[in-house]
Amino acid sequence: MRVGVLAVQGAFVEHERAFADVGAETFEIRQTRDLARPFDALVLPGGESTTQGKLLKDLGLFAPLKARIEAGLPVFATCAGLILLAERLMGDPTVWFGVLPVTVQRNAYGRQLGSFAAMRAGGAGGGEGLDDRVPMAFIRAPAIVDVAPDVEILSLHGGRPTAVRWRNVWAFAGHPELTDDRQVFEAFCRR
Ligand code: GLN
Repeated sequence: MRVGVLAVQGAFVEHERAFADVGAETFEIRQTRDLARPFDALVLPGGESTTQGKLLKDLGLFAPLKARIEAGLPVFATCAGLILLAERLMGDPTVWFGVLPVTVQRNAYGRQLGSFAAMRAGGAGGGEGLDDRVPMAFIRAPAIVDVAPDVEILSLHGGRPTAVRWRNVWAFAGHPELTDDRQVFEAFCRR
């Protein structure tokens, strides 16, 4: 598995480490010529979604990445990456890729540096291959406040989804890459 890690801003290095730990090869996507390299999956890391979205457009990466995501490229997105994918931002008309049928509220978890375990939701196919916990660090993380009926919920915290899967997209409100637990990276590589 060869993973292209978006590296224009934010916490991309931690994803490179996490995917390397589970035996995947990674490289950084910083400019359009990086897209000429073959890759099987894309990481959209945490950081600042407005900055990332603007940089993606300025660098000419936005349209080609959107086309690949829509064509089925597997995506692993955390935090700001989830915001870039969401179809709707609560109280904000901004839409970036808009490919994931969820509504998110930015900065909903405040300045929360601790990590906590989010229980996996049950249900058919829910969290297949995962243990019953997905530990994540929440750092000014978005809340997933609404999901379309066919979005699979991989984990919940306080009654709200904190990780979801839909078609080729896995998206996390917090940061599994900032914990020692590699189960979601392994599961994503096995998909
Ligand atoms: N608060 C950031 C945003 O709105 C996301 C935080 C993160 O990625 N850790 O883009």
